[in-house]
Amino acid sequence: MNARMPLSFLALTTVVACGGPMLQGQEVRPPVSQGDRAATQASTAPARAAATITPEDMQRRIAYLASDELKGRDTPSPGLDAAADYIAKEFARLGLRPAGDDGSYIQRYALQRRALAADQVRFSIGGTAGARTLVAGKDYAAMPGVPARVSGAPVVAVRSLDPNAEALRGRIAVTYLAGAATSRDFFRALQGVRAAGEAAGVAATIVVLDPAVSEQDVARLLELNTETGPLALGELTSPPVFLVRHAAAKAVFAQAGHDLDAVRAATAPTELHGLTVELSAPVRIDRDDRAPNVVAVLPGSDPALRDEYVVFSAHMDHVGVRNMNASGDSIFNGADDNASGTSALLEVAEAFASMETPPARSLVFLAVSGEEKGLLGSRYYSDHPTVPIEKIVANINVDMIGRNAPDSIVVIGQEYSSLGPLVREVAAANPDLGLTVAPDLWPQERFFFRSDHFNFARKDIPALFFFAGVHEDYHQPSDEAEKIDADKAARVARLIFLTAYEIASRPQAPTWTEEGLREVRALTAGGR
Ligand SMILES: [Zn+2]
Repeated sequence: MNARMPLSFLALTTVVACGGPMLQGQEVRPPVSQGDRAATQASTAPARAAATITPEDMQRRIAYLASDELKGRDTPSPGLDAAADYIAKEFARLGLRPAGDDGSYIQRYALQRRALAADQVRFSIGGTAGARTLVAGKDYAAMPGVPARVSGAPVVAVRSLDPNAEALRGRIAVTYLAGAATSRDFFRALQGVRAAGEAAGVAATIVVLDPAVSEQDVARLLELNTETGPLALGELTSPPVFLVRHAAAKAVFAQAGHDLDAVRAATAPTELHGLTVELSAPVRIDRDDRAPNVVAVLPGSDPALRDEYVVFSAHMDHVGVRNMNASGDSIFNGADDNASGTSALLEVAEAFASMETPPARSLVFLAVSGEEKGLLGSRYYSDHPTVPIEKIVANINVDMIGRNAPDSIVVIGQEYSSLGPLVREVAAANPDLGLTVAPDLWPQERFFFRSDHFNFARKDIPALFFFAGVHEDYHQPSDEAEKIDADKAARVARLIFLTAYEIASRPQAPTWTEEGLREVRALTAGGR
């Protein structure tokens, strides 16, 4: 479980962690289930397969993944690689088909920490009355980009950047952004400008700031971009953005014979003739790394449906080694978060692999990394899927299922699709599981945004997120294997198996409710 919201909701290239207060030791209080009790009895084959999921197996797997040997499975780290290796070997032992890179179980993705190379920042404008070089941190701030240097490109003014505007391709776009340069709305708008510039193929974007933005604000913006950013996916692809103080912009444009107010009024792209602009804002790479996802497929048994997939996801990473606590422990073992979900993924895979006839649809087992760094591994997988994304009919995500009230499990996302009624039906048809399916009990914590199903939901894939809630050991060195309720974790894993069996077997694929799809699209709009 991620301690903050996805990166896309945060400011600039530099992200400020906003870990809100966690609920401490709160008990899960399920409402009385109103689920459909007319559920069909599970046939004996799935019931037998479900019975292979035992508390002992869950405890053994959790104990290994959460052992001090794996040092908290930080992304990237040798401990994380050891976890990935263990999962890949288990997939191989179960006879699952590799679905990573080049016939292996591992999908590797690039990770960087980067910032602005501040010593190489440059902004100069030449016009009819000579050239002028602006002062970084006083007249302007910059966000690094590609290309690092832009020289002599035509300059085009436009009130708002249209990502589809052909007239902006290869040009330096000049636009205007209202508001104080400190507000969340400003940073969100700035992200939009940056993304629109990239989509339109600009060479660089010049943002003229509000007259109210001070020199100190500009200095702070430059400093923010100079500090090492968080781990981010891949390599930087967006063009550089220059944020210019209003007075400075007005002076240089006037010098070149252009009126800044006309820039603000340009509803369609308008070329500013007679300007020669030289810009430089290269990226500084502070860390260049790679991290693993582990992916396997169990092919379905129905020739007509086996090209459709149900994806199980669980994050195998945690937060590594940090400052020690009062008892001298510095290893954040992440037993509940998320050795519990990873172990459920393996146990569910083992249960499916034990069946003589697998379900009709194919199953994808996906252990991701980088979840604690901002859902990075699942973001990468959903953008670079190893099965056709339009053929993924559902995502079942498992994150933290080993603690709190033994008689219930929270399943987030029930209200959005036919998966909600289905999981309640399966729970009602299997009273021996002793589990009541509860809705999201903590909407104020925004858990919908804080685990890997988010990245499937943003691709319009119906998803369920199994989650037993946080507790006093959440993101602490004390989240250790001996505190896990392995009996509960095994029963939740059985419920997941039986639910997934139904999803993968029924002729009709899961469907969104009309309102559910609309709401999920609104919720994931910032992360698309
Ligand atoms: Zn977490």
